[in-house]
Amino acid sequence: RDATRLAETLVPTHCAFCGVQCGMNLKVADGKVIGVEPRNFPHNRGSLCPKGVVAYQQADHPDRLRYPMMRRGGKGSPLERVTWDEALDYIVSRWQRIQAEYGKHAVSIYSGSSMTNEKCYIMGKFARVALGTRHVDYNGRLCMSSAAMAYARAFGVDRAPLPMTDIPLTDCILAVGVNVAECFPIMMQWVWQARDKGANLIVIDPRETPLARTADLWLPVKPGTDIAVLNAMLRQIIADGLVDEEYLKTRTQGWEAVRDEVEPFTLEYAEHLSGVPAKRILAAARLYGRAATSLIMHARGIEHSTHGVDNCLACINLALARGQVGKPGGGTMMVTGQGNGQGGREVGQKANQLPGYRHIDVPEEREHIARFWGIPVEELPWEGAAATEMVHLMADGEIKSCMIVCSNLMVSLPDNQVVQKALQNLDPLVVIDFFQSETANFADVVLPGSVWCEDEGTTTNLEGRVIKINKAADPPGEAQPDWIIVRELAKRLGRGQFFPYQSALDIWNELREASKGGVSDYYGITWEKIDEQEGVFWPCPTLDHPGTPRLFTERFGFPDGRARMFPIPYQPPAEEPGGMYPFRLTTGRVVYHYLSGNQTRRLGFLNSQAPEPWVEIHPQAAARLGIVNEEIVRVRTPRFSMEVKALVVPTIRPDTLFIPYHYGGKQAANQLTNSAVEPTVKIPEYKVCAALVEKLNAP
Ligand code: SF4
Repeated sequence: RDATRLAETLVPTHCAFCGVQCGMNLKVADGKVIGVEPRNFPHNRGSLCPKGVVAYQQADHPDRLRYPMMRRGGKGSPLERVTWDEALDYIVSRWQRIQAEYGKHAVSIYSGSSMTNEKCYIMGKFARVALGTRHVDYNGRLCMSSAAMAYARAFGVDRAPLPMTDIPLTDCILAVGVNVAECFPIMMQWVWQARDKGANLIVIDPRETPLARTADLWLPVKPGTDIAVLNAMLRQIIADGLVDEEYLKTRTQGWEAVRDEVEPFTLEYAEHLSGVPAKRILAAARLYGRAATSLIMHARGIEHSTHGVDNCLACINLALARGQVGKPGGGTMMVTGQGNGQGGREVGQKANQLPGYRHIDVPEEREHIARFWGIPVEELPWEGAAATEMVHLMADGEIKSCMIVCSNLMVSLPDNQVVQKALQNLDPLVVIDFFQSETANFADVVLPGSVWCEDEGTTTNLEGRVIKINKAADPPGEAQPDWIIVRELAKRLGRGQFFPYQSALDIWNELREASKGGVSDYYGITWEKIDEQEGVFWPCPTLDHPGTPRLFTERFGFPDGRARMFPIPYQPPAEEPGGMYPFRLTTGRVVYHYLSGNQTRRLGFLNSQAPEPWVEIHPQAAARLGIVNEEIVRVRTPRFSMEVKALVVPTIRPDTLFIPYHYGGKQAANQLTNSAVEPTVKIPEYKVCAALVEKLNAP
């Protein structure tokens, strides 16, 4: 060994770039993170994808925010370095003036889901206890709030019912709107293992994704029409006598209404609505319906929809009709996207939720948490605006100030002319982040936070497994872990006694107690147990409880133990093609980037592979319009137009366009998307809107 080489230590932790949360060891030398090696953890078994391999480069990245900054000269003046005291004193004095003049709810918190459970918990508590505002929500609203609602309504518990290691136990995977190979690459090893053992794979997706290219059957559905296919499959399964009558009788409620609802969905009718040939729907129904064990995996392809909750419920109806939910390797699996997308919605930073998955508007649940926090229940605010509604309250002037934590609204929200107006209206707009995002460019105060490897805590991965994140290095410059920033703000607001934490472990132990008795009960999950068991699945109600990898093996989460089934009528997307907009535009992710790209666009290798967006267009459509591969074209929707490179590919429906959404400014796909939302959970319809593609010199 080279004697001059610095001594390296290995810090075991997890990748933060998707909900899989692969185990990794960070190499640390001289107080800096200098590299990575995979870790043999149960769900990644020593593998990392391209994002995981370079994630560590964020820690010492030259673009890191190192000092607090403010626009001392007001809006329009440059951001200048200031001390923490000056920044925090200014924020609190402004908030106090605003709340005195306009009321408590004129200040809001818009938080993120890529942070630890401890940070997510403290954001919800800070909003309600320190600020007294009801307006707190998080960017998981944009991710999979529709799946969360569907699972809560059907099963009584919002969590994937089974671990990834169950996937090889299935005989048939039905993947609906989930691009596993690009968005969750390491999860593919479980899919391959199922395939090696003979499992069939059916993919429903408008694009022939890398997963679809390996499938037995690809159903190229028109974006926004999945319910037609799912209902027709269920109708066919009934006709073939493949429903599990005994399971439906003993373990569910509502089957008769579902059976009646799907009756009109003949194969031909479904073909008419969805564009999928009737023969393929029939083949899919038989392949899925005849499998002894079958698993439906679904993600944003059906969840980013004005009927996203119903899309997920239609999947659940199929799985329940086949008696699959609760079986090892069977049922449904929502595939959470964000690093801590699952944990972020369990701990009380969502507008309608309190820790332990309690509902803020249910009297006994709010009383329980108010008592736990030591405040009169009358002081605990009621449900506030969802993230997508909050931005309109900002644009309309009802919300005067917002603290945005690790979220990049200028890239991630639809209709970003409204977002821009909202951000410009706020005074002050406070941003906590570790890179200067497109959103932070509008901020009056920017506070430098920590990245995932600069603090410790827990996250909950897409399986419901609570895992431990360990600290490998200090944040650079004067940057601080976000929970310390929030604690210091609370002190200045005169509420420091409610935030007495000296460490992330203090927060975790409070959260364990707060969640006790709730749906997501972490009480028995100590950090020691997480290390011993390589993660612990909630619910884990006592210290000697081993955790619960499989849910619903005997009962669902309702007092009578039965799952709920809901009839799901067909509903078209909010905006259908027609007139001057003949295409359906859909958006999504690519393997090299994460969410708004604020992190991955700075990592050289990842950015070199996908430095700019493109629009995918089928060769038939391209030929008709005279568009050639790599030509710059214009994509227009009723809201906006953008110029982007054309990628002519046969892997997309001829009536559909696709643009990846990881880019900002003039390259932001969400300038084009529709801001229509699902009526109950307010998730936007990112996955379909009407569009036109044309040559730049078109008249
Ligand atoms: Fe990270 Fe997800 Fe890739 Fe695993 S699959 S290395 S968690 S981005």
